[in-house]
Amino acid sequence: MLTEQQRQQYQAALAGHEQKTNAELCRDLDVTPGRLTAILAELGVARPPRPPRRAITEIPRNTLEALVQEGQCKHQICRVLGISNRALLRLLRVHSLEVMNRDEHTRQLVAQGLRRCAQCKAIKTLETDFSNDRTDRYGKNPRCRECMKVTSAKYRDRWTGSARQAAAAERAASGPPTRRCRFCSEVKLLESEFDPDPKGPRWRSVDCRACATAHHERSALRQEMLRLEAEGLRRCYRCCEVKSLEIDFTVDRRDRTGRHALCKVCARARRQNEKLPIEHPAVNPPAPIAASPLPPLSVVPPPLAPFAPYSPPAAPSAAA
Ligand SMILES: [Zn+2]
Ligand SMILES: [Zn+2]
Ligand SMILES: [Zn+2]
Repeated sequence: MLTEQQRQQYQAALAGHEQKTNAELCRDLDVTPGRLTAILAELGVARPPRPPRRAITEIPRNTLEALVQEGQCKHQICRVLGISNRALLRLLRVHSLEVMNRDEHTRQLVAQGLRRCAQCKAIKTLETDFSNDRTDRYGKNPRCRECMKVTSAKYRDRWTGSARQAAAAERAASGPPTRRCRFCSEVKLLESEFDPDPKGPRWRSVDCRACATAHHERSALRQEMLRLEAEGLRRCYRCCEVKSLEIDFTVDRRDRTGRHALCKVCARARRQNEKLPIEHPAVNPPAPIAASPLPPLSVVPPPLAPFAPYSPPAAPSAAA
């Protein structure tokens, strides 16, 4: 279902749709072909019937023959005639013509002292219009002198003069070169944080030094583990001691070797630790606090009781 806004938008875009192809409409509306069909159905827009396909028999034989004689390849002929590759093949079969292999064509031209430029496609004199090239089969550059002049000027401009200065200024402005490590994804300085690597981009490793070291350590540990396993040994993950796999490790079917990663002693110790509530003061009494030289308390003497007034003892009764 289209909203009112979409409806108006699509109707405006579909104005004069008879003159456009489906592909152009898809681009204008920014939709997929399937969605275009749905929109057209919902808006009730009827598209004109497709123009009949151009019959390949309409193409005269001499047009095709001329193109083949020129040494055009299949792709170029298709483009010139505006037909598909399959149609061209059928057309060639109908007229019993054959598009010449490009190598074969070049060979024939060279035999006549000519060559077709690989860039401008013009047929020129081999001796004068092509420079020497010892790596080429015919000893001549596949591109004519004119084309080479243009091409080399383009490259020269790229690496000299103002373009080069601008590139240098940009590099200087952006600071020292950095790289994002492939493992930890952190951006670090290329020169100081990445090891030299002749195969890496810009002759530096793709992983930073920290990651490379960790990687080597892991790899060394793994190598050692495999070596020990071959001898029926294993290094305990907790106490790090090398012990006999059969005797000192309990069975664990989830493990690759069928033995537990911790030795029996460490496994027992861990089991006991798990059983005991760690924070219980009766089981794990807090360690006594080490006697520390506390500052002496300032002793304030309690206030003295006021003197009671002297009262002489009662006089012994005379009766005694
Ligand atoms: Zn050329
Ligand atoms: Zn890293
Ligand atoms: Zn252990």
